[in-house]
Amino acid sequence: ETIGAFFDRTVETHREREALVVKHQNIRWSWSELGRRVDDLAAGLLALGLERGDRIGIWSPNNSEWTLTQFATAKAGLVLVNVNPAYRRAELEYAMNKVECKALILAPSLKTSNYLEIVADLVKDRKLPHLKHIVRLGAEKTPGMLNFDDVAKAGGKAEKAKLAEIGPKLQFDDAINIQFTSGTTGFPKGATLTHHNILNNGYFVGEGLKLTATDRLCIPVPLYHCFGMVMGNLGCLTHGATMVYPAEAFDPLATLQAVAEERCTALYGVPTMFIAQLDHPEFGKFDLKSLRTGIMAGSPCPIEVMKRVQSQMHMHEVTIAYGMTETSPVSTQCATDDPVERRVSTVGQVMPHLEIKIVDSEGRIVPCGETGEFCTRGYSVMKGYWNDAEKTAEAIDDGGWMHTGDLATMDAEGYVNIVGRLKDMVIRGGENVYPREIEEFLYRHPKVQDVQVIGVPDQKYGEEICAWIKLRDGQSATPEEIKEFCKGQIAHYKIPRYVEFVDAFPMTITGKIQKFVMREETIGKLG
Ligand code: ATP
Ligand code: MG
Repeated sequence: ETIGAFFDRTVETHREREALVVKHQNIRWSWSELGRRVDDLAAGLLALGLERGDRIGIWSPNNSEWTLTQFATAKAGLVLVNVNPAYRRAELEYAMNKVECKALILAPSLKTSNYLEIVADLVKDRKLPHLKHIVRLGAEKTPGMLNFDDVAKAGGKAEKAKLAEIGPKLQFDDAINIQFTSGTTGFPKGATLTHHNILNNGYFVGEGLKLTATDRLCIPVPLYHCFGMVMGNLGCLTHGATMVYPAEAFDPLATLQAVAEERCTALYGVPTMFIAQLDHPEFGKFDLKSLRTGIMAGSPCPIEVMKRVQSQMHMHEVTIAYGMTETSPVSTQCATDDPVERRVSTVGQVMPHLEIKIVDSEGRIVPCGETGEFCTRGYSVMKGYWNDAEKTAEAIDDGGWMHTGDLATMDAEGYVNIVGRLKDMVIRGGENVYPREIEEFLYRHPKVQDVQVIGVPDQKYGEEICAWIKLRDGQSATPEEIKEFCKGQIAHYKIPRYVEFVDAFPMTITGKIQKFVMREETIGKLG
């Protein structure tokens, strides 16, 4: 089935029930109203002359227009290209040209950057040869750009008729979406996803949380990322649940406020977002008892934080999920009724209708409890990286298995633990060293607030261990002191040869640490 067909059915079934609440725009739409607006926009996009398969970019923080665009492009058979709100000029140019976008919808600006200026400059310099239409949000006029609301009004009878004609022709394995990965390990890659990929994943994520039409899901994670648009929006669409957006971009106070005011029953976030809410000075002011469930995902989820989320945020059925953009995204998820210990300490079991395996470097399945690369196969695996057969072949093997580049273990009952990324694994003198293990050990040092461990090239051992440490406020320490702390506690080859004290780590907008940047900087320093 296509997303457009599913969307129409949800509108038909749930009509006057609340579909979307956008706190920062003061918006409250029922499924009927959302349905009308989506059809208007879809017709308007057809009126621009866009055709099935054309790529259309969206560069905007979270808002109602984002969601209208997501469903309108799905109904019109266009391919939506999610552009990271943190991009700057060079990255936007790369993404737009890589996928040959014909149209771009953009917000006027974000706190950190003026989108209109960047796009106007690129157009002036003739750097966006494929782009025919630029559509801006907001009421102001900008030369050379259309206004979003005008486009949404431009579709007439003819376009509506065309829309009705297109619907049944769309195929469930048509590309619907090009999503760029977070850029944690290098330049973001554009994953081509189909209706089938993401609609099913959204559905099963919602099933895992036991979502129903009475649930209200708070979505503070970015919509440009699969966490927001698939696990969030499509999870709600497929269960008739209400989508609640607290703010343009993550804000702990706005999130707490939205949960309390809207009586949300579920909440999403990466670990750093939950920590920011729990540690917020006004945390105690909000009544969060309506919360029942939610998902923490995206990076390693500390057990301590999971426990606090259960007890202090009342999310007794909170779960961890694991996945990646290329797999729509979720591959494993805990069930809401899994034993608590499992739910807070593993990423769960395989999702329905998917296969997973953990293999060694020769592709052989490893015994239970041993570390290997996590691979998955089934409906969730992307079509490929857009226009990049070589990279696609590196990621998906002939048997259809997606090699995730993540290291994991599996126990006898099929619960999976993520150990770290293959790219981050250090091979020192023939020994495999997993940075996460050293990081967890160094966390115990009383002066250490945060720590990240990487490998750097070394003549003698191939690679050497380097720890970047952020000390607690007002503390000072020496590298020797840190090394001394490790002696006798962890194997000698795991003790960092280099220790750097830093104020911050290089990070993506999704809150992930970019170890490749750390490596480049350290190598530069070591000469
Ligand atoms: P890039 O591929 O551009 O380097 P990225 O891999 O961070 O960036 P995403 O697709 O957003 O881009 O993130 C997927 C990755 O996030 C996974 O491959 C995994 O390393 C990590 N991840 C996701 N969920 C979890 C989890 N629950 N626990 C640990 N790591 C996780
Ligand atoms: Mg990745």
